[in-house]
Amino acid sequence: MKHKILMIPGPTEVSIEVLAKLALPVEPHYGDEFVKLYFEVVAKLKKIFETSNDIFILAATSSAAMESAVNCAVEKGDKVLVCHNGFFGERFKEIVESVGAIPVLLKADADKPIEPNRVKKVLEDNREINTITVVHNETSTGVENPIEEICEIAFKRGILTIIDSVSGLGGANFSADKWKIDLALSGSQKCLEAPAGLSFLSISEKAWQRFRGRKTKIHGWYLNLLNLKKYQEQWQNWHPQGPNTAPVSLYLALDAALDRIIREGLEERIKRHEKIAKALRCALRKIGLELFVEDRFASKTVTAVKLPPTVNGEQLRKVIADDFNILLSGGLGETKDSVVRIGHMGMTAQSKYILPTLKALERTLSKLGFTVKEGRAQKTFKRIIAQE
Ligand code: PLP
Repeated sequence: MKHKILMIPGPTEVSIEVLAKLALPVEPHYGDEFVKLYFEVVAKLKKIFETSNDIFILAATSSAAMESAVNCAVEKGDKVLVCHNGFFGERFKEIVESVGAIPVLLKADADKPIEPNRVKKVLEDNREINTITVVHNETSTGVENPIEEICEIAFKRGILTIIDSVSGLGGANFSADKWKIDLALSGSQKCLEAPAGLSFLSISEKAWQRFRGRKTKIHGWYLNLLNLKKYQEQWQNWHPQGPNTAPVSLYLALDAALDRIIREGLEERIKRHEKIAKALRCALRKIGLELFVEDRFASKTVTAVKLPPTVNGEQLRKVIADDFNILLSGGLGETKDSVVRIGHMGMTAQSKYILPTLKALERTLSKLGFTVKEGRAQKTFKRIIAQE
Protein backbone atom coordinates (compact mmCIF):
# COMPACT_ATOMS: atom_id res chain seq x y z
CA MET A 1 0.00 0.00 0.00
CA LYS A 2 1.32 3.43 -0.89
CA HIS A 3 0.21 5.97 1.67
CA LYS A 4 -1.78 8.96 0.45
CA ILE A 5 -2.54 11.92 2.68
CA LEU A 6 -5.92 11.20 4.29
CA MET A 7 -8.00 14.31 3.68
CA ILE A 8 -11.04 12.06 4.09
CA PRO A 9 -13.48 12.11 7.02
CA GLY A 10 -11.78 9.24 8.81
CA PRO A 11 -9.61 7.42 9.27
CA THR A 12 -7.43 10.46 9.56
CA GLU A 13 -3.69 11.10 9.64
CA VAL A 14 -1.89 9.80 12.72
CA SER A 15 1.18 11.54 14.15
CA ILE A 16 4.61 9.93 14.18
CA GLU A 17 4.64 9.81 17.98
CA VAL A 18 1.40 7.80 17.96
CA LEU A 19 2.52 5.56 15.08
CA ALA A 20 5.75 4.83 16.96
CA LYS A 21 3.71 3.15 19.72
CA LEU A 22 2.49 0.59 17.19
CA ALA A 23 6.07 -0.51 16.59
CA LEU A 24 6.65 -1.45 20.25
CA PRO A 25 6.65 -5.15 21.21
CA VAL A 26 3.22 -6.64 21.90
CA GLU A 27 2.25 -6.59 25.57
CA PRO A 28 -0.34 -8.65 27.49
CA HIS A 29 -3.82 -7.35 28.23
CA TYR A 30 -3.59 -8.18 31.93
CA GLY A 31 -1.33 -7.42 34.85
CA ASP A 32 -0.35 -4.26 36.69
CA GLU A 33 1.04 -2.35 33.73
CA PHE A 34 -2.00 -2.83 31.54
CA VAL A 35 -4.35 -2.07 34.46
CA LYS A 36 -2.55 1.26 34.90
CA LEU A 37 -2.66 2.04 31.17
CA TYR A 38 -6.35 1.07 30.90
CA PHE A 39 -7.50 3.33 33.72
CA GLU A 40 -5.31 6.21 32.51
CA VAL A 41 -6.91 5.96 29.07
CA VAL A 42 -10.38 5.90 30.65
CA ALA A 43 -9.54 9.01 32.73
CA LYS A 44 -8.34 10.85 29.61
CA LEU A 45 -11.43 9.83 27.63
CA LYS A 46 -13.61 11.19 30.46
CA LYS A 47 -11.97 14.58 29.99
CA ILE A 48 -12.68 14.50 26.27
CA PHE A 49 -16.28 13.30 26.60
CA GLU A 50 -16.60 15.84 29.45
CA THR A 51 -18.21 13.28 31.71
CA SER A 52 -18.03 11.74 35.13
CA ASN A 53 -20.11 8.78 33.90
CA ASP A 54 -18.59 5.34 33.35
CA ILE A 55 -16.57 4.86 30.19
CA PHE A 56 -16.34 1.42 28.58
CA ILE A 57 -13.93 0.66 25.77
CA LEU A 58 -14.75 -1.87 23.07
CA ALA A 59 -12.14 -3.69 21.00
CA ALA A 60 -14.30 -2.99 17.96
CA THR A 61 -15.14 -0.01 15.78
CA SER A 62 -17.85 2.56 16.43
CA SER A 63 -20.60 0.62 14.67
CA ALA A 64 -20.20 -1.94 17.47
CA ALA A 65 -20.63 0.85 20.04
CA MET A 66 -23.83 1.95 18.22
CA GLU A 67 -25.07 -1.64 18.27
CA SER A 68 -24.05 -2.19 21.88
CA ALA A 69 -25.90 0.93 23.05
CA VAL A 70 -29.10 0.09 21.19
CA ASN A 71 -28.95 -3.63 21.99
CA CYS A 72 -28.64 -2.97 25.74
CA ALA A 73 -31.10 -0.07 25.98
CA VAL A 74 -33.87 -1.22 23.70
CA GLU A 75 -36.10 -4.29 23.80
CA LYS A 76 -38.14 -6.05 21.15
CA GLY A 77 -41.30 -4.03 20.49
CA ASP A 78 -39.97 -0.77 22.01
CA LYS A 79 -40.50 2.41 20.03
CA VAL A 80 -37.34 4.40 19.34
CA LEU A 81 -37.19 7.89 17.87
CA VAL A 82 -34.48 7.69 15.22
CA CYS A 83 -33.34 11.11 14.00
CA HIS A 84 -32.31 10.62 10.42
CA ASN A 85 -30.58 13.12 8.15
CA GLY A 86 -27.96 10.96 6.54
CA PHE A 87 -26.14 7.67 6.18
CA PHE A 88 -25.37 7.14 9.88
CA GLY A 89 -28.94 8.00 10.91
CA GLU A 90 -29.93 5.20 8.56
CA ARG A 91 -27.45 2.90 10.35
CA PHE A 92 -29.17 3.59 13.68
CA LYS A 93 -32.50 2.72 12.03
CA GLU A 94 -31.12 -0.62 10.83
CA ILE A 95 -29.67 -1.41 14.25
CA VAL A 96 -32.95 -0.55 16.00
CA GLU A 97 -34.78 -2.86 13.59
CA SER A 98 -32.20 -5.59 14.15
CA VAL A 99 -33.16 -5.86 17.85
CA GLY A 100 -36.85 -6.11 16.95
CA ALA A 101 -37.68 -2.58 18.12
CA ILE A 102 -39.77 -0.13 16.09
CA PRO A 103 -37.97 2.93 14.70
CA VAL A 104 -40.09 6.08 14.53
CA LEU A 105 -38.23 8.08 11.92
CA LEU A 106 -37.75 11.82 12.17
CA LYS A 107 -36.20 12.75 8.87
CA ALA A 108 -34.63 16.01 7.78
CA ASP A 109 -33.28 16.85 4.33
CA ALA A 110 -29.68 15.72 3.91
CA ASP A 111 -28.39 19.30 4.07
CA LYS A 112 -30.42 20.28 7.15
CA PRO A 113 -30.14 19.47 10.85
CA ILE A 114 -32.82 17.78 12.95
CA GLU A 115 -34.97 20.55 14.44
CA PRO A 116 -35.53 20.29 18.21
CA ASN A 117 -39.15 21.50 17.87
CA ARG A 118 -39.92 18.57 15.61
CA VAL A 119 -38.37 16.21 18.17
CA LYS A 120 -40.65 17.70 20.82
CA LYS A 121 -43.71 17.23 18.63
CA VAL A 122 -42.93 13.59 17.75
CA LEU A 123 -42.35 12.80 21.42
CA GLU A 124 -45.66 14.45 22.33
CA ASP A 125 -47.48 12.50 19.62
CA ASN A 126 -45.85 9.17 20.50
CA ARG A 127 -45.95 8.78 24.26
CA GLU A 128 -44.64 5.19 24.09
CA ILE A 129 -41.23 6.23 22.73
CA ASN A 130 -38.62 5.53 25.42
CA THR A 131 -35.32 6.13 23.57
CA ILE A 132 -33.92 8.55 20.99
CA THR A 133 -30.89 8.14 18.72
CA VAL A 134 -29.12 11.09 17.09
CA VAL A 135 -25.88 11.48 15.16
CA HIS A 136 -24.01 14.54 16.41
CA ASN A 137 -21.89 15.15 13.31
CA GLU A 138 -23.41 13.46 10.23
CA THR A 139 -20.19 12.51 8.46
CA SER A 140 -21.96 11.66 5.22
CA THR A 141 -23.07 15.26 4.60
CA GLY A 142 -21.20 17.52 7.02
CA VAL A 143 -24.27 18.60 9.01
CA GLU A 144 -23.97 19.17 12.77
CA ASN A 145 -27.13 18.35 14.72
CA PRO A 146 -28.15 20.44 17.79
CA ILE A 147 -27.56 17.74 20.38
CA GLU A 148 -27.76 19.94 23.45
CA GLU A 149 -31.28 21.17 22.62
CA ILE A 150 -32.52 17.74 21.55
CA CYS A 151 -31.16 16.08 24.71
CA GLU A 152 -32.74 18.75 26.92
CA ILE A 153 -36.15 17.93 25.42
CA ALA A 154 -35.56 14.20 25.80
CA PHE A 155 -34.34 14.65 29.39
CA LYS A 156 -37.50 16.53 30.39
CA ARG A 157 -39.60 13.68 29.02
CA GLY A 158 -37.45 10.98 30.68
CA ILE A 159 -36.36 9.56 27.31
CA LEU A 160 -32.99 7.76 27.15
CA THR A 161 -30.56 9.45 24.76
CA ILE A 162 -28.09 7.58 22.50
CA ILE A 163 -25.73 10.00 20.74
CA ASP A 164 -23.16 9.11 18.10
CA SER A 165 -20.29 11.58 18.13
CA VAL A 166 -17.95 9.40 16.09
CA SER A 167 -16.77 12.23 13.87
CA GLY A 168 -17.41 15.10 16.29
CA LEU A 169 -15.68 14.18 19.55
CA GLY A 170 -12.31 15.89 19.89
CA GLY A 171 -13.03 18.32 17.04
CA ALA A 172 -16.44 19.83 17.76
CA ASN A 173 -18.00 21.04 20.97
CA PHE A 174 -19.34 18.09 22.95
CA SER A 175 -20.24 17.56 26.59
CA ALA A 176 -21.84 14.30 27.67
CA ASP A 177 -22.64 15.60 31.18
CA LYS A 178 -23.71 19.16 30.40
CA TRP A 179 -25.87 17.90 27.56
CA LYS A 180 -27.31 15.12 29.80
CA ILE A 181 -26.45 12.31 27.38
CA ASP A 182 -27.15 8.80 28.64
CA LEU A 183 -25.14 6.86 26.06
CA ALA A 184 -22.50 8.82 24.15
CA LEU A 185 -20.28 6.93 21.75
CA SER A 186 -17.25 7.57 19.61
CA GLY A 187 -14.25 5.87 18.01
CA SER A 188 -10.50 6.15 17.81
CA GLN A 189 -9.86 6.92 14.13
CA LYS A 190 -11.34 10.35 13.53
CA CYS A 191 -10.75 13.54 15.53
CA LEU A 192 -8.86 11.63 18.23
CA GLU A 193 -6.06 10.91 15.70
CA ALA A 194 -5.48 7.26 16.55
CA PRO A 195 -5.71 4.14 14.37
CA ALA A 196 -9.10 2.43 13.92
CA GLY A 197 -10.04 -0.47 16.18
CA LEU A 198 -11.27 0.95 19.48
CA SER A 199 -14.60 2.55 20.34
CA PHE A 200 -15.93 4.09 23.53
CA LEU A 201 -19.22 4.44 25.34
CA SER A 202 -19.99 6.86 28.12
CA ILE A 203 -22.82 5.38 30.19
CA SER A 204 -25.04 7.29 32.64
CA GLU A 205 -26.59 5.82 35.79
CA LYS A 206 -30.01 6.13 34.09
CA ALA A 207 -28.70 3.95 31.25
CA TRP A 208 -27.42 1.30 33.69
CA GLN A 209 -30.84 1.34 35.38
CA ARG A 210 -32.50 0.82 31.99
CA PHE A 211 -30.23 -2.17 31.27
CA ARG A 212 -30.94 -3.71 34.68
CA GLY A 213 -34.68 -3.06 34.62
CA ARG A 214 -35.40 -4.72 31.26
CA LYS A 215 -38.28 -7.18 30.93
CA THR A 216 -36.10 -9.42 28.72
CA LYS A 217 -32.43 -10.35 29.06
CA ILE A 218 -29.93 -8.48 26.91
CA HIS A 219 -29.16 -10.57 23.86
CA GLY A 220 -25.51 -11.42 23.18
CA TRP A 221 -22.30 -11.49 25.17
CA TYR A 222 -19.45 -9.51 23.56
CA LEU A 223 -21.39 -6.23 23.22
CA ASN A 224 -23.48 -6.76 26.34
CA LEU A 225 -22.50 -3.88 28.64
CA LEU A 226 -23.87 -5.60 31.75
CA ASN A 227 -21.66 -8.57 30.96
CA LEU A 228 -18.64 -6.31 30.41
CA LYS A 229 -19.36 -4.52 33.69
CA LYS A 230 -19.66 -7.81 35.56
CA TYR A 231 -16.27 -8.99 34.29
CA GLN A 232 -14.70 -5.58 34.80
CA GLU A 233 -15.82 -5.47 38.43
CA GLN A 234 -14.50 -8.97 39.11
CA TRP A 235 -11.25 -8.58 37.18
CA GLN A 236 -10.48 -4.88 37.42
CA ASN A 237 -7.14 -5.27 39.16
CA TRP A 238 -5.96 -7.82 36.65
CA HIS A 239 -7.86 -7.84 33.33
CA PRO A 240 -9.73 -4.53 33.23
CA GLN A 241 -11.23 -4.14 29.74
CA GLY A 242 -13.58 -7.10 30.23
CA PRO A 243 -13.38 -10.79 29.41
CA ASN A 244 -11.64 -10.63 26.02
CA THR A 245 -8.09 -9.85 24.82
CA ALA A 246 -7.62 -6.09 24.75
CA PRO A 247 -5.52 -4.89 21.77
CA VAL A 248 -2.79 -3.32 23.89
CA SER A 249 -0.88 -1.85 20.93
CA LEU A 250 -3.99 0.15 20.02
CA TYR A 251 -4.31 1.29 23.63
CA LEU A 252 -0.71 2.51 23.63
CA ALA A 253 -1.34 4.44 20.43
CA LEU A 254 -4.62 5.87 21.72
CA ASP A 255 -2.99 6.90 25.00
CA ALA A 256 -0.35 8.88 23.12
CA ALA A 257 -3.02 10.44 20.88
CA LEU A 258 -5.07 11.49 23.94
CA ASP A 259 -1.95 13.04 25.46
CA ARG A 260 -1.58 15.16 22.35
CA ILE A 261 -5.17 16.39 22.73
CA ILE A 262 -4.71 17.18 26.41
CA ARG A 263 -1.42 19.00 25.68
CA GLU A 264 -3.12 21.14 23.05
CA GLY A 265 -6.14 21.77 25.32
CA LEU A 266 -9.63 20.69 24.32
CA GLU A 267 -10.94 24.23 24.03
CA GLU A 268 -8.01 25.32 21.85
CA ARG A 269 -8.41 22.27 19.70
CA ILE A 270 -12.11 22.88 19.10
CA LYS A 271 -11.35 26.52 18.22
CA ARG A 272 -8.73 25.28 15.75
CA HIS A 273 -11.27 23.00 14.04
CA GLU A 274 -13.81 25.85 13.88
CA LYS A 275 -11.30 28.23 12.39
CA ILE A 276 -10.09 25.75 9.78
CA ALA A 277 -13.66 24.83 8.79
CA LYS A 278 -14.59 28.49 8.38
CA ALA A 279 -11.51 29.41 6.33
CA LEU A 280 -11.86 26.33 4.14
CA ARG A 281 -15.48 27.14 3.39
CA CYS A 282 -14.61 30.74 2.40
CA ALA A 283 -11.75 29.51 0.21
CA LEU A 284 -13.90 26.98 -1.62
CA ARG A 285 -16.62 29.55 -2.31
CA LYS A 286 -14.02 32.00 -3.59
CA ILE A 287 -13.25 29.69 -6.53
CA GLY A 288 -16.92 29.37 -7.44
CA LEU A 289 -17.71 26.12 -5.66
CA GLU A 290 -20.99 25.62 -3.84
CA LEU A 291 -21.08 23.98 -0.45
CA PHE A 292 -23.64 21.30 0.38
CA VAL A 293 -24.56 22.73 3.81
CA GLU A 294 -25.23 26.32 4.92
CA ASP A 295 -22.65 27.79 7.28
CA ARG A 296 -25.00 27.83 10.27
CA PHE A 297 -25.52 24.05 10.11
CA ALA A 298 -22.00 23.12 9.02
CA SER A 299 -19.79 20.51 10.63
CA LYS A 300 -16.43 21.63 12.05
CA THR A 301 -14.71 18.43 10.96
CA VAL A 302 -15.96 17.54 7.47
CA THR A 303 -17.03 19.68 4.52
CA ALA A 304 -19.08 18.46 1.56
CA VAL A 305 -18.57 20.42 -1.65
CA LYS A 306 -21.07 20.23 -4.51
CA LEU A 307 -19.50 19.05 -7.73
CA PRO A 308 -19.82 21.48 -10.62
CA PRO A 309 -22.19 19.87 -13.19
CA THR A 310 -19.36 19.37 -15.69
CA VAL A 311 -17.00 17.62 -13.25
CA ASN A 312 -17.09 13.90 -12.53
CA GLY A 313 -16.36 13.29 -8.84
CA GLU A 314 -14.65 9.96 -9.30
CA GLN A 315 -12.32 11.41 -11.92
CA LEU A 316 -11.60 14.47 -9.77
CA ARG A 317 -10.64 12.31 -6.81
CA LYS A 318 -8.54 9.98 -8.96
CA VAL A 319 -6.51 12.80 -10.51
CA ILE A 320 -5.96 14.39 -7.09
CA ALA A 321 -4.84 11.04 -5.69
CA ASP A 322 -2.52 10.29 -8.65
CA ASP A 323 -1.05 13.75 -9.16
CA PHE A 324 -0.98 15.07 -5.60
CA ASN A 325 -1.04 11.95 -3.44
CA ILE A 326 -4.06 13.31 -1.56
CA LEU A 327 -7.15 11.27 -0.83
CA LEU A 328 -10.60 12.89 -0.80
CA SER A 329 -13.97 11.17 -0.32
CA GLY A 330 -17.04 11.02 -2.48
CA GLY A 331 -20.53 11.32 -1.06
CA LEU A 332 -22.28 8.56 0.88
CA GLY A 333 -25.83 7.41 0.32
CA GLU A 334 -28.03 10.05 -1.30
CA THR A 335 -25.10 12.38 -2.11
CA LYS A 336 -22.88 9.63 -3.51
CA ASP A 337 -22.21 11.19 -6.93
CA SER A 338 -22.98 14.83 -6.24
CA VAL A 339 -20.39 15.90 -3.65
CA VAL A 340 -16.77 15.53 -2.70
CA ARG A 341 -16.01 15.45 1.04
CA ILE A 342 -12.94 16.88 2.71
CA GLY A 343 -12.07 15.73 6.20
CA HIS A 344 -10.42 18.21 8.58
CA MET A 345 -10.02 16.19 11.71
CA GLY A 346 -7.24 16.28 14.27
CA MET A 347 -3.94 16.45 12.37
CA THR A 348 -5.58 17.43 9.06
CA ALA A 349 -7.33 20.44 10.60
CA GLN A 350 -4.16 22.46 10.01
CA SER A 351 -3.10 24.86 7.26
CA LYS A 352 -0.22 22.60 6.29
CA TYR A 353 -2.75 19.95 5.20
CA ILE A 354 -5.49 22.23 3.87
CA LEU A 355 -3.29 24.42 1.66
CA PRO A 356 -1.92 21.54 -0.47
CA THR A 357 -5.47 20.17 -0.70
CA LEU A 358 -6.75 23.50 -2.02
CA LYS A 359 -3.88 23.67 -4.48
CA ALA A 360 -4.68 20.16 -5.70
CA LEU A 361 -8.37 21.03 -6.05
CA GLU A 362 -7.68 24.26 -7.93
CA ARG A 363 -5.30 22.66 -10.37
CA THR A 364 -7.39 19.55 -10.96
CA LEU A 365 -10.63 21.44 -11.43
CA SER A 366 -8.88 23.57 -14.08
CA LYS A 367 -7.50 20.45 -15.72
CA LEU A 368 -11.02 19.01 -15.87
CA GLY A 369 -12.42 22.13 -17.51
CA PHE A 370 -13.89 24.08 -14.55
CA THR A 371 -12.12 27.39 -14.78
CA VAL A 372 -10.39 28.42 -11.56
CA LYS A 373 -8.01 31.28 -11.00
CA GLU A 374 -5.19 29.30 -9.43
CA GLY A 375 -3.98 30.42 -6.03
CA ARG A 376 -7.23 32.20 -5.15
CA ALA A 377 -8.55 29.60 -2.73
CA GLN A 378 -5.20 29.31 -0.98
CA LYS A 379 -4.90 33.09 -0.69
CA THR A 380 -8.40 33.38 0.78
CA PHE A 381 -7.73 30.56 3.21
CA LYS A 382 -4.52 32.22 4.44
CA ARG A 383 -6.24 35.59 4.78
CA ILE A 384 -9.07 34.21 6.92
CA ILE A 385 -6.69 32.24 9.10
CA ALA A 386 -4.55 35.35 9.65
CA GLN A 387 -7.64 37.38 10.66
CA GLU A 388 -8.93 34.99 13.27
N1 PLP B 1 -21.06 6.98 12.96
C1 PLP B 1 -20.50 7.95 12.24
C2 PLP B 1 -21.02 9.34 12.36
C3 PLP B 1 -19.42 7.66 11.40
O1 PLP B 1 -18.86 8.65 10.70
C4 PLP B 1 -18.95 6.34 11.31
C5 PLP B 1 -17.84 6.01 10.41
O2 PLP B 1 -17.46 6.74 9.54
C6 PLP B 1 -19.58 5.36 12.08
C7 PLP B 1 -20.63 5.71 12.91
C8 PLP B 1 -19.14 3.94 12.01
O3 PLP B 1 -17.85 3.81 12.45
P1 PLP B 1 -16.97 2.51 12.13
O4 PLP B 1 -16.84 2.45 10.65
O5 PLP B 1 -15.68 2.83 12.81
O6 PLP B 1 -17.66 1.34 12.68
